[in-house]
Amino acid sequence: MEKPINYRPTKAIIDLQAIEHNLISLRQYIGKDIQIIAVVKANAYGHGDVEVARTAIQAGATMLAVATPDEAVHMRGNFKDIDILVLGATPPNFAPYASQENIILTVFSTSWIETVKQYIPLANQLKLHIKVDSGMGRIGVSTKEDLLELYEAIVMSNDFILDGIFTHFATADEEDSLYFDNQVTLFKDFLSVLPKRPRLVHVANTATTLVKEPSLQYDAVRFGISMYGLLPSSFVGSKMPFPIKPAFSLHTELIHIKKMHAGQSVGYGATYTLEEDCYIGTIPIGYADGMLRKLEGQEVLVGGKKAKIVGRICMDQSMILLPTAYNVGEEVVLIGRQQHEQITMDDWATKLQTINYEIPCVITARVPRVYK
Ligand SMILES: *Cc1c(COP(=O)(O)O)cnc(C)c1O
Repeated sequence: MEKPINYRPTKAIIDLQAIEHNLISLRQYIGKDIQIIAVVKANAYGHGDVEVARTAIQAGATMLAVATPDEAVHMRGNFKDIDILVLGATPPNFAPYASQENIILTVFSTSWIETVKQYIPLANQLKLHIKVDSGMGRIGVSTKEDLLELYEAIVMSNDFILDGIFTHFATADEEDSLYFDNQVTLFKDFLSVLPKRPRLVHVANTATTLVKEPSLQYDAVRFGISMYGLLPSSFVGSKMPFPIKPAFSLHTELIHIKKMHAGQSVGYGATYTLEEDCYIGTIPIGYADGMLRKLEGQEVLVGGKKAKIVGRICMDQSMILLPTAYNVGEEVVLIGRQQHEQITMDDWATKLQTINYEIPCVITARVPRVYK
């Protein structure tokens, strides 16, 4: 007998065709000469890194970007040939494995290079991208002197290949471009001191790619949030050069329904008391799935209509106020479309006073990702 899985009806459906569509549209927009780096860190923003990466590679991405060494190991285990770049910091003792598996690392300190030299000889030359901090204040070299020193340390040694240089923008998704423009100027300044430009200069995240000067696409763009069909901000939304399709939707089913009467209460703390007789449905999803308690009052879709989450969200279950009686097994859409209605990731983000990026990342691993 096959191992039983997914008996609970709660699942995230990931529409890989939407991801493909978004990447093909991107390709048409940027033209054929600029490489696409598919950003698949954090389990592809919670969408499932292996399936997203496979789709991205098929749609023409030539590099995968992850945040951590462990994510790079996982990607390399699944994809033998594609370039993989670790965007974040890496401990020097990862260098031997990175060199053996042809994983490209981000570097921003000369002492890191010196420490890695204790592992020489490496299996292959270790490919590196220099990170410049032009105003994000996170990681990166922040003076031209440090940049030159690091550059020399890399190119002087036969054990390293300087494959790229990049920076990251703090405000690319905002309407006011003063800070952004300053970062651009600073980065160009940094670039101008290099005796020789490496193979890949890349600065553009999604927002920069879609709404800024095309020359900032340089040799490659690091495309994250809009690959998943989500907007970096409403400002970017107002300037989109092409439409995108969201890939992530969240589904469950009614597991119980009952008629309740005026004066009765629902959930922990008995905080929600009915004003009139009505139907209350129970759905098998709660805060342990990433549907955080702050989402109390958020609407879901049942039978093509909106219905509100009432009472406190429990760890594994929640209750909704139904417009009419439905049967057990009726589909409930938490994020996505049902008939003519839609609940978006941005609706959840607004309710949670956060950004859409955070939502799929916090839908926990208990919710299976099902691919279509
Ligand atoms: C996450 C990340 C990106 C992708 O950003 P999006 O806004 O999702 O396109 C690009 N570059 C770096 C360095 C990142 O950390």
